[in-house]
Amino acid sequence: MSTPTPTLWLRRGRERSLKRRHPWVFSGAIARVVGDPGPGDTVDVRSADGELLARAAYSPHSQIRARAWTFRDEPVDEALIARRLEAAIAARGGPAAGGPEGACRLVYAEADGLPGVIVDRYADTLVIQLATAGAERWRSPIANLLPAVTGVQRVWERSDVEVRALEGLEPRVGPLAGEEPPPRIAVREGGLRLWVDVHHGHKTGLYLDQRNNRGRVGELAAGRTVLDAFCYSGGFTVHALAGGAASVLAVDASADALAMTRANLELNGLAAETCELVEGNVFEVLRGLRDRGRTFDLIVLDPPKFAATASQRERAARGYKDINLLAFKLLEAGGVLATFSCSGAIGGELFQSIVAGAALDAGVEAQVVERLGQPADHPVLLSFPESEYLKGLVCRVGDHLPARAGSRI
Ligand code: SAH
Repeated sequence: MSTPTPTLWLRRGRERSLKRRHPWVFSGAIARVVGDPGPGDTVDVRSADGELLARAAYSPHSQIRARAWTFRDEPVDEALIARRLEAAIAARGGPAAGGPEGACRLVYAEADGLPGVIVDRYADTLVIQLATAGAERWRSPIANLLPAVTGVQRVWERSDVEVRALEGLEPRVGPLAGEEPPPRIAVREGGLRLWVDVHHGHKTGLYLDQRNNRGRVGELAAGRTVLDAFCYSGGFTVHALAGGAASVLAVDASADALAMTRANLELNGLAAETCELVEGNVFEVLRGLRDRGRTFDLIVLDPPKFAATASQRERAARGYKDINLLAFKLLEAGGVLATFSCSGAIGGELFQSIVAGAALDAGVEAQVVERLGQPADHPVLLSFPESEYLKGLVCRVGDHLPARAGSRI
């Protein structure tokens, strides 16, 4: 006799979100758990009336208690995982996606029907990041399938994201297929090249989500004096200089990031004399520049995620306001601010109102001339709005207005 599939029975009225194909089941929606599912096990999710709503991965330690693999009555097995991987990769143009030296995201978790699973390609190396118990359960099938589906033989794991702790999972970094990657891999981005450190770099090695926006900033940079705040490995800096910027001042708190920026200038044959690298806290560095009367024609603000959850929204909003206010003060009339937020908890409208408040307090009139967001390989699943997190505004600054009392920070 086969054991019945463990089942999560929902409280009455709590089936709506799954019926709208949102893949998360929160602990508060669950009336009872029948069977004894372990972390990552597949469970049926049923409404109070017994309707099968989804098959999902169980996460006993997380408030997001289950994540749907499917909303159909179909088995969750290796074949389903393979179909999802193949579909995600086909949507990016097939196994050759990104080209032999390219970099792109091949699998974007929930947005590609694979909750918790991220796969990024850096030339001849795939980097996978597993964030949830369900993703963890399917590690070895995923690692075995990827070389066949992508034609890339090396698979490296970077499952060292903090959210794993919420799932009761330890960080895990190491080889899954092929040899260990070299310390640095060079990838192409637009007409340029960037180094990626898949061992120690942020995320899986590079902020892939910003690559189109880096290209756009490169186009805007010709002849301009540029400030690249939160530069990481200097992606915006390299694009700006290659795009003809008169000079770039790049700021980051991390010495390793600045070393990578320097290496990226060299990799692209860009003159180091036109680029000043400053190690420091952007908040303080911007204040210092303001106090010394420095100005710029183009400023990029690409801070880390200030709000990881809704509860941090207010503090995050103050952070965004501060840096944007300072940036507006540092811009010449006619200057351009490319300002970003990657906090999912700060929506596009809220972000724009924060930036508007910053312009007001800085005493400048500014227009939004362009909106930027995630590239096509970080798709936003309409039934899962959480997959949208990156927003950017390109603002053109007009004349400086007469100062308002109390506007200095
Ligand atoms: N613009 C980059 C990505 C920036 S990620 C790119 O396109 O690749 C955010 C960066 O901000 C990280 O490199 C981190 O080291 C840096 N950082 C975080 N807090 C900081 C602070 N208060 N001051 C300066 N840098 C900071």
